[in-house]
Amino acid sequence: MSDFVAPEGPSVFKRIIDGEIPSEVLFQDDLCFVIADINPSAPTHLLLIPKQEIPRLVDASEEHKSLLGHMMLVAGDIARKFGIQDAFRLVINNGEGAGQTVFHLHMHIMGNKKFNEADLGN
Ligand code: 5GP
Repeated sequence: MSDFVAPEGPSVFKRIIDGEIPSEVLFQDDLCFVIADINPSAPTHLLLIPKQEIPRLVDASEEHKSLLGHMMLVAGDIARKFGIQDAFRLVINNGEGAGQTVFHLHMHIMGNKKFNEADLGN
């Protein structure tokens, strides 16, 4: 059982979804959307974000199974679209201790960078 308490108020991604913060949407469908990370850690650094609010991966459950599967396929499509299909990294930070700063589930899609095999960070 987790004692995690999500920070109060809408996350920055929810505010983007609600149109309160302008952001260039690079792709979207009914379930998710993609924006460029505002503080990129790689030359190509995109964020794939579900429209449904789930604070962390660990908060997802059976009902989110098809959404999560869908996002994995979208991640591959986006990698192809941005020409990084042969070398990209997909990262989900779960929890503050792992570097999660926005408590609305998201996948980092990073490419065009030389990855160090030993370093699984971003
Ligand atoms: P986390 O650290 O939670 O895994 O990732 C959150 C990411 O969101 C960070 O890489 C951060 O740079 C990015 N980010 C935070 N605020 C904004 C914003 O307003 N716009 C965009 N495009 N990215 C943001």
